Amino acid sequence: MGALALLAFATACGDNGGGAAPAATTAAPAAPQPTGAAPTGAAATPGAPAPAGANAAAWAKWNLTPLAPAPAPPADKPVKLERTGPVPVFSEVKTTDKVVFITIDDGAEKDPKFVEMLTDLKVPISMFLTKDIVKNDYGYFKPLQALGNHIQNHTVDHPVMSKLPADKQKSEVCDDQAALTQQYGTAPLLFRPPFGDGANTPMLNTSVQQCGPRAIVLWRESMQIHDMQYQAADKKLKPGDIILAHFRGPKELKGATMTQMFGDLLARIQEQGFSVARLEDYIQAPAS
Ligand SMILES: [Zn+2]
Repeated sequence: MGALALLAFATACGDNGGGAAPAATTAAPAAPQPTGAAPTGAAATPGAPAPAGANAAAWAKWNLTPLAPAPAPPADKPVKLERTGPVPVFSEVKTTDKVVFITIDDGAEKDPKFVEMLTDLKVPISMFLTKDIVKNDYGYFKPLQALGNHIQNHTVDHPVMSKLPADKQKSEVCDDQAALTQQYGTAPLLFRPPFGDGANTPMLNTSVQQCGPRAIVLWRESMQIHDMQYQAADKKLKPGDIILAHFRGPKELKGATMTQMFGDLLARIQEQGFSVARLEDYIQAPAS
């Protein structure tokens, strides 16, 4: 059934956009996704960009045209994390690759359509999850993780960290770390403080060090509903920028859905000539 489905898919692909035809012959690597065997899905495509055009039909389903595939991840990672000591704080990654990174925070909106969308498009994301916001349905994020996306730390209940004493800061980071590690089978490597607050304070750095994450990750752009808010005055993406988005639904997006927001984000990235890479592919975890 898998081969048959693939054949039908490749054919639809060729029919659809004239320009996409040559890629149909290379469609095979993108196939083994919809079988429901989640863990192998992640292993099958370790950062390998999907062939351009092979998935044109999948993108067309979401009223999008395929993003240019990201280049292969750099062998020499621009960010190298240490096992001990102060953790670095960064909001972009040093690279000349024309790539940006998408991070999605909190975890409030759990729209099944978004899982379907990412399964179709295979755009890499990193998820910074807040325990009290995701604990009513940890399972929602598992198929997203199975696509190869990493789960990262975003506190227990989303406080303004700089207003907390050291011991409370520590429990915010450590308790989220423990819950996410238990639920998702792997310990978050990265931490993001809510609102970016306190990121550069020695106290928060110490709290993070005590709990396991080895970097504090901020952002350069913040996705709103249809466009991004830029920190740069020229309002342009730069190579290596980290983009913040949120799991949000119609209530927060003035009627727009999570998938509409995400589609608009991809369109804004595409129109500036960028592709989306996986943040963790540019980061070297500490040797264990
Ligand atoms: Zn947040």
